[in-house]
Amino acid sequence: MRKQYEKKLKHLAVHDGLTGLVNHLEFYHRLEKELNRARRYNSPLSLLMADIDNFKQINDIHGHIAGDKILKKLAKLIKKAVRQTDTAARYGGEEFTIILPMIDMQEALAGGERIRDLISSQPISIGKGKSIHITVSIGVAAYPQNATAAAKLVSKADKALYRAKQAGKNQVQAYKNAS
Ligand code: GH3
Ligand code: MG
Ligand code: MG
Repeated sequence: MRKQYEKKLKHLAVHDGLTGLVNHLEFYHRLEKELNRARRYNSPLSLLMADIDNFKQINDIHGHIAGDKILKKLAKLIKKAVRQTDTAARYGGEEFTIILPMIDMQEALAGGERIRDLISSQPISIGKGKSIHITVSIGVAAYPQNATAAAKLVSKADKALYRAKQAGKNQVQAYKNAS
């Protein structure tokens, strides 16, 4: 009984309550761990950062409960779309990060595009028989060429995400030096 309770507490400490994905803190732990591994074995690693397009408006129109439903469903879709060795996390409110070990920029862009396409083509039920389509913008940064430290890599993925938003949303962008 006690063991089970401890297990539950441990799970709560590293996962996000709404989506069940890994939380912000655990995301950084895993990123550090995977970056160490990439350094040791000289292997690539990519980081995706996804943000829902116009989510404030979706909340305003359909309500916060519908917004929460969308976040949950989105988490499920992302989890289904990635490999077991990848880590999908809820980075913040409507922002998700995905760690792709052993994946270089080119492959990560293709993976990001697959996720973007899956999300945009999937009607999401928001209750009362209603369903809507949502889109996400995704930024990609790759180790080691864009950054070697965890926080820097996240910042570069965030910059790439910003470019995706600027360029019109519902798209995937790689980090570029000038961004
Ligand atoms: P953009 O396309 O530029 O990303 O626009 P946006 O409206 O998505 O971005 P903005 O940052 O203005 O709004 C984010 C919104 O996400 C605002 C907030 O209400 C909503 N949000 C964040 N966390 C949650 C949550 O846990 N549940 C719900 N329902 N909404 C959330
Ligand atoms: Mg945001
Ligand atoms: Mg947004």
